[in-house]
Amino acid sequence: MRPDDLLKPRPEGLYCPPGDFYIDPVRPVERALVTHGHADHARPGNQNVLATRQTLDIMAIRYGENFAASRQEAAIGERLTINGVTVSFHPAGHVLGSAQICVEKDGLRIVASGDYKPRPDPTCAAFEPVPCDVFITEATFALPVFRHPDDREEIGKLLKSVRQFPERSHLVGAYALGKAQRVIRLIRDAGYDETIYIHGALKTLCDYYESQGVALGPLAPATIDNGKKGDFAGAIVVGPPSAFADRWARRFPDPVSCFASGWMRVRQRAKQRGVELPIILSDHADWDELIETITAISPSEVWVTHGREEALVRWCELNGIRARPLHLVGYEDEAE
Ligand SMILES: [Zn+2]
Repeated sequence: MRPDDLLKPRPEGLYCPPGDFYIDPVRPVERALVTHGHADHARPGNQNVLATRQTLDIMAIRYGENFAASRQEAAIGERLTINGVTVSFHPAGHVLGSAQICVEKDGLRIVASGDYKPRPDPTCAAFEPVPCDVFITEATFALPVFRHPDDREEIGKLLKSVRQFPERSHLVGAYALGKAQRVIRLIRDAGYDETIYIHGALKTLCDYYESQGVALGPLAPATIDNGKKGDFAGAIVVGPPSAFADRWARRFPDPVSCFASGWMRVRQRAKQRGVELPIILSDHADWDELIETITAISPSEVWVTHGREEALVRWCELNGIRARPLHLVGYEDEAE
């Protein structure tokens, strides 16, 4: 069996002909295997969804209980058979519940890693390299210019600014699933135990992380009616990036606009968004981590998807690994 016979790109997503299923389909299909809960990978409307319990829970939180006609839980490491194809889920280290999906038939093994990061993250299970013939890697930050700094140093910059400007509030933009909880957890790990204020859009997911054993410390809604501006002086407020562009943000006293994202490495992006304090914090592998992961797994072939595919394909070729871009559509690099 050739790799192309086991998994191939289709407009709906990555398709397995013998198993008759899709991985992270972008359009509704009969059977979907889902790597993680981010909106560009997990969409509502599929007939059957197979995912980790946490990803299923997150889909239910975001889309309602009827996000699929039926659902099945994949325990980490468990081998399941679908129409003669063996599939198994392995931690991807990206957000809570995120998994790489290993697809095997007739001795050929392909790992679709979804989004992943190898560096430690206190809010989800650590990435595990899975030996395989073909490794499908994301390429969100696949340029040598992308080297994510140490998480603790980035959070240290935020806490230093909070100490420096006790009369100002610090508004931290962070995506609702994963990034927000990671920012809060890292702030706690740095020793900050004051109440952190959160936008209403984060509450359910923060509660869910807590229920899964990720302690976030004292949180309170940042939506106090009749609140005077002074109430948030010196406070840290976390919300989805979109919230800080609208009226909601005006309730805070002389806010310092912060944004936690891997893209904050690009000064121009920070400037465009009016970000005063960029926090470089990514849930994706950076260039070095992509190279280290591919080197550790040592697959005979690499397929590269969503992001800067050419640079990584080129690197693989220069290092004697067959590689090609997959050109899957529908995955946004912005949603990190
Ligand atoms: Zn993601």
